[in-house]
Amino acid sequence: LEIPENPIIPIIHGDGIGKDVGPAAQKVLEAAANATGRDIAWMRVYAGESGREKYDENLPDDTVNAIDEHRVAIKGPLTTPVGAGFRSLNVALRQTLDFYSNVRPTYYLDGVPSPMKAPEEMDMVTFRENTEDVYAGIEWEAGTDEVEQVREFVEEEMGFDDVMHDGPIGIGIKPITEFGSKRLVRKAIDYAIEHDRDKVTLVGKGNIMKFTEGQFTEWGMEVAEEEYPDEEVFAAPDSLWETQDEIDIPEDAVMVESRLADAMLQWMQLRTDEFSVLAMPNLNGDYLSDAAGAQIGGLGIAPGANFGDARVLAEPVHGSAPKRAGQDMANPTALILSGRLMFDYMGWKDTADLVRDAVEETISSGKVTYDLERQIEGGEKLGTTEYAETIVE
Ligand code: NAD
Repeated sequence: LEIPENPIIPIIHGDGIGKDVGPAAQKVLEAAANATGRDIAWMRVYAGESGREKYDENLPDDTVNAIDEHRVAIKGPLTTPVGAGFRSLNVALRQTLDFYSNVRPTYYLDGVPSPMKAPEEMDMVTFRENTEDVYAGIEWEAGTDEVEQVREFVEEEMGFDDVMHDGPIGIGIKPITEFGSKRLVRKAIDYAIEHDRDKVTLVGKGNIMKFTEGQFTEWGMEVAEEEYPDEEVFAAPDSLWETQDEIDIPEDAVMVESRLADAMLQWMQLRTDEFSVLAMPNLNGDYLSDAAGAQIGGLGIAPGANFGDARVLAEPVHGSAPKRAGQDMANPTALILSGRLMFDYMGWKDTADLVRDAVEETISSGKVTYDLERQIEGGEKLGTTEYAETIVE
């Protein structure tokens, strides 16, 4: 990504624990930039609670425009107020600026407690489609006229008259497009090529949801077959596992294969080292990346970033954890490592590496926040601010 030498980076600290981890992460990221001879001009922008305070709006235009203009941004978590018809601000932001892929790397940091036998084998990157699927928000509430109209249409016009029970019903639509599937899979394959990874696994439940998740996989395979030379990308046939010996797989090619989503959750835990890059529809990606995150230390350290064409919005996997908010106790690592992804995308490799090394060194010395301290023998519990200062040091 081409960015100015001293870029302006919009930052949303976020709601709940965002107020703790936002400033802490900002300090660490700035220190890493400075230590590698770079400067960041931060631009505080507001959304959620801070948006309501300053602008009387959840997602002010100034915030959306700043992220749109500067193309590189980072955000903490935003609370989704509970109430009928309220759409998540996070989803709204991703859709408004067409951040169509959500990328979550899952890798082991030395010293982090894990329930796995060999956590160091975990080194996966999930690409989750970010705009479609049941998250598109096309659904109707039980008891409304709209839902009854949809029911009537589905039962009478489309002939599914024996599927839905009488009485109240909620209905949602699961749109999966060729356009959305292909651009996501393309991003995953390009990432695998650029980062020397050997495999991209498409994850869907196509045996049941043939025309949505099944199509996702078929369209993804088309990208692998039609858009890259054979020696660069090898589209594995379904029969690969029975006939492996007879198929000539080009030595350095990225293999693109597909797995069923339910089985994948099992394989991910039993044969961690067999997977590298995963690409999947929205809901599968949400579940699978949280489960993967739990295996390498949990939400406190799981980073992520949303990518569009030539833009990135880094954001951790976790939410605003209201019970922990304002107590200087939450773990800023997830947001810090999300910043590392942002630096990586900006081409600031040495800054990105420094962030990871400093985090790893701090954790492996036993200095951690409360969420990890409970699990590490002899661990020393630090508050959010002190932990961040230790990383900076
Ligand atoms: P959550 O991720 O906020 O918290 C779940 C639990 O995980 C917390 O109670 C806490 O014990 C732990 N945890 C999470 N992050 C931590 C950290 N950095 N350090 C230490 N412990 C941490 O999930 P939730 O409680 O389901 O959601 C709370 C709110 O956040 C909801 O309004 C939800 O909509 C929102 N949310 C926002 C995002 C986002 O901004 N992208 C993502 C998920 C949830």
